[in-house]
Amino acid sequence: MIYLDNCSTTPMSEDALKEYGKYASACFYNPSASYAEANKVRLKLDEAREKLKKMLGAKGGEIIFTGGATESNNLSLKGSEREGKWEYVVSIGEHPSVLEVAKSMEKKGRVVHYIPLTKNGEIDYSFLEKVLNKKTRLVSVMLVNNVTGAINDIKRVSQLVKSLSPQAVLHVDGVQAFKKLNFSVNALDIDLLSISAHKFHGPKGVGALYVKNKTQLKNIIFGGGQEFGIRSGTENVAGIMAMVKAAEEIDTEKAFRHVKQLHDAFLHEIENEKGISVVCPDGSPYILCLLFAGVNSETLVRMLENDVVVGRGSACSSKKAGNSVLEAMGYSREQVKGALRVSFSDISTLKEVESAAKIIKEKYLELYERTK
Ligand code: PMP
Repeated sequence: MIYLDNCSTTPMSEDALKEYGKYASACFYNPSASYAEANKVRLKLDEAREKLKKMLGAKGGEIIFTGGATESNNLSLKGSEREGKWEYVVSIGEHPSVLEVAKSMEKKGRVVHYIPLTKNGEIDYSFLEKVLNKKTRLVSVMLVNNVTGAINDIKRVSQLVKSLSPQAVLHVDGVQAFKKLNFSVNALDIDLLSISAHKFHGPKGVGALYVKNKTQLKNIIFGGGQEFGIRSGTENVAGIMAMVKAAEEIDTEKAFRHVKQLHDAFLHEIENEKGISVVCPDGSPYILCLLFAGVNSETLVRMLENDVVVGRGSACSSKKAGNSVLEAMGYSREQVKGALRVSFSDISTLKEVESAAKIIKEKYLELYERTK
């Protein structure tokens, strides 16, 4: 079985698993306790924080360890929400862990602007420019879209935000970008950035939020005051240590070159195939969103599952009838019905990818003939 749904999740690396075992067992102490063994764990946690900051290209600021990117995204939006006549701006292409928070704010009477997507999957920058004003409290735009692989120009976003709404906080969902594309939170002038360990061979249920210096963030969990009072609860030390180990193991540039080769080989295999089109061929090479004309991709995914595992879009929304990101880009319901997401990882091989492309092509033609 060839696994090509790496945007949904990845297997843990062996070293990450070992690290997890070490901190779940031999080094199990509570980092907030005051005896020597606990202090050692506390120091290791702080070391992990510094390592992550460095990998994110942060100059200063802080890392808050969380229970994954859903939590990091919720914390960013809810922690930036304020009483009064403030406005919030999110892109319509965001993950549900941003969009659903925005909708709940709207229900409370807050003003939320949804940035539309253009045909190439990026946000509409001119719309953003028009809605930004002195009342803007928060802007949330993801770096890489998890459905299409489209890459937003975050530098352009931060320049617009800092010049038109200097009081606003810029949150970026970096889940599909961290350890996949080379970027720096400092160079992009990002205030808050979410990451999730299980997307880069770390464990599930652990993630982080980068918080730039002087960014005011309210806590949404109340308790013992861990994580600078922003995220109470005993840290998931084993998960955090394994996450940082997994991140350290990946050479982002080398992995990118490898995955780009896989992406190009896959495209080469299907390029002349009638009925198959690519949504964002120039997006992140880790994600290929394909449209198969005349068939329902749900059936195709099931026909493939013993040979090739692929997704229908984001796993979180795969149970929903439509794929709102593609519809926001202007694709019809009919086109969206045939959408399938192939996503690579640094451990996918060329041989796997070439044979997966052939199998997908074959099964599509079989289904197409049957559906006709
Ligand atoms: N944002 C994006 C872009 C994602 O792809 C995901 C994972 N599907 C999340 C947030 C949520 O991450 P987690 O699974 O860690 O809650």
